[in-house]
Amino acid sequence: MNPSHRSGHVAVIGRPNVGKSTLTNALVGAKISIVSPRPQTTRHRLLGIATVDGGQLLLVDTPGLHRDQGKSTATAMHRWMNRAARGALEGIDAAMLVVRAGQWDEADDFAYQALRHVGVPVVLVVNQVDRLKDKTVLLPYLAQVSEGREFAGVHPISALKRKGLEALTKEVLALLPEQPALYAEDEITDKSQRFLAGELVREQLMRQLGEELPYATTVEIERFIVDGALLRIGAVIWVERDGQKSIVIGKGGERLREIGTKARQQMERLFDSKVFLETWVRVREGWSDDEAALRTFGYHD
Ligand code: GDP
Ligand code: MG
Repeated sequence: MNPSHRSGHVAVIGRPNVGKSTLTNALVGAKISIVSPRPQTTRHRLLGIATVDGGQLLLVDTPGLHRDQGKSTATAMHRWMNRAARGALEGIDAAMLVVRAGQWDEADDFAYQALRHVGVPVVLVVNQVDRLKDKTVLLPYLAQVSEGREFAGVHPISALKRKGLEALTKEVLALLPEQPALYAEDEITDKSQRFLAGELVREQLMRQLGEELPYATTVEIERFIVDGALLRIGAVIWVERDGQKSIVIGKGGERLREIGTKARQQMERLFDSKVFLETWVRVREGWSDDEAALRTFGYHD
């Protein structure tokens, strides 16, 4: 008899910045979801495909699930991100609730409650254990957060240091239905290379720009051409105001060059190809609160 094969959709849920995308990448084994020290780095729902011994996990990485903010501050972009996070709960077989070790407050509880409503098994992933200076706080913490809550399992891990991932994978896989793989073994995401290229530029904006500026930017891939062994990629960085444009470009174009260089290196690694990347900065006033602009920039279902 064939050994059983399990596969299914697993939502990766949690408040912003706990390490959901880092975990998705670590399980997939490639950098398909961008990561930065800033909250709300992930704007889209993205499927990470992890083919493992005995099955396939389809990880649904999401923008952090948080309560809708008051109407006055919730831009069209915020509403989009919340829709994408909630949409991730549709059709899932299991969920990983990701929290940061030592932390549990109402934002984590909000994510937990949202998952309880879906009614799928929830595995609690206690991430960033490497950051705990005093390891003796871990056991009491695990006991405290499990108390009165229903988890199919609790796993302390470090997504960054790739600790505890094997046991976590096994446990989650066991919760999935017995069925054949839904994707080919060599597929790692449902997104196109074009989309991923745009995200890798946006990752550098999140990492290299200060204050609120990253949130006023988005990236549009205008050109994506396979030219023999070379990928020719043209990226437009959209900002909301002229002043922001000059900050992104930097003195003598230095900032924009650095953004382009880092993004290109990441693309070459992910696509396993030489990349020629050109970048431009353009202004579109108020794009982040403009539904039509959002759609042109790829924020649509
Ligand atoms: P997300 O918003 O939940 O997707 O979080 P990200 O994956 O973008 O990670 C947010 C930040 O936490 C980044 O700076 C990551 O490098 C960092 N991070 C994620 N996982 C770990 C971990 O296990 N240990 C440590 N020390 N940092 C982590
Ligand atoms: Mg993320």
